[in-house]
Amino acid sequence: MAEVLVVVEASQGGVKKVTLEMLTLARDLGEPAAVVLGGEGAAAPLVDKLAEFGATKVYAAESADIDGHLVAPKATVLANLVRQVSPAAVLLPSTQEGKEIAARVAVKLDNGLLTDVVALGADGVATQPVFAGSTIVKSKVTKGLPIVTVRLNSLTPTPAPVTAAVESVAVSVEDKDKLVKIVERKAEAKGARPELAEASIVVSGGRGVGSADDFKLVEELADLLGGAVGASRAAVDSGYYPHQFQVGQTGKTVSPQLYIALGISGAIQHRAGMQTSKTIVAVNKDPEAPIFELADFGVVGNLHKVVPQAAEEIRKR
Ligand code: FAD
Repeated sequence: MAEVLVVVEASQGGVKKVTLEMLTLARDLGEPAAVVLGGEGAAAPLVDKLAEFGATKVYAAESADIDGHLVAPKATVLANLVRQVSPAAVLLPSTQEGKEIAARVAVKLDNGLLTDVVALGADGVATQPVFAGSTIVKSKVTKGLPIVTVRLNSLTPTPAPVTAAVESVAVSVEDKDKLVKIVERKAEAKGARPELAEASIVVSGGRGVGSADDFKLVEELADLLGGAVGASRAAVDSGYYPHQFQVGQTGKTVSPQLYIALGISGAIQHRAGMQTSKTIVAVNKDPEAPIFELADFGVVGNLHKVVPQAAEEIRKR
């Protein structure tokens, strides 16, 4: 069976959920092989987790040339690996970096590319939501192999433990790949809350929250439920909450067990980032707000009254 290369997304906390989703998907397409593109020693701490989700091989491309520069060296190394092993498909996360690597690899290989894929069949037919999720299309790469970026939270990762063989990959990059050098890394301030894209509960606030100060209400409810905080674009543009927490077409895609929308109208661009949430609860003072078409439970009311009451009830339990 041909290998399916899965480009690993990881952080200090280890392998990210999207990697486990891609490995789960890869198992239906061929033999999953993870590709770690990082600095010296990047692969070792990740191998056990990758093997737990079915990676029979881990390609370790480790070099300061990869770690010290932006995406160009990663694309060169990945394209060379594809030429070498002729995989059945290449899967990358639909993150900003994943998409950029995928695009560069597709150009280098003169190959087709599909982005934001939520499902991929063994026949290479991919499912993609387009126009902010209002239309679903089936598409297929017609030139070369499927190079596909997989949308975060599009499937549930399931373990399938195997033993992974680690194979070191020679890193040979050109000078033109090293034109942009990373001079400093600043970790995003990380609080006690779970990461937005991976949280099982998300409490989001919109323009209806009213001010940056009032976002404390949203944070308080999120903390009581052990959830992450999200925001609509209108809330972000109004300066109520930072952009990194924006949910939607031009923000993050979330798919938690519970999504609570406070003072959010439910515009299509917001839905695009949260409509696959398992249970959606909306609080909005306008009974005609489109968010209610999507919500499993809705409260028509002023969030400044409803949220403190809900918080009080939760505290009692
Ligand atoms: P509004 O539409 O202003 O809605 C506020 C809601 O709060 C209203 O329904 C109102 O009834 C309710 N409300 C007001 N006061 C209270 C109260 N006291 N109690 C209860 N309810 C109250 N949007 C995103 O969210 N994410 C994106 O990624 C995104 N990307 C976009 C990309 C493009 C190309 C474009 C054109 C738009 C994008 N948008 C995005 C913007 C989107 O179209 C909407 O403008 C935005 O989602 C509206 O945010 P909102 O629901 O918070 O604000």
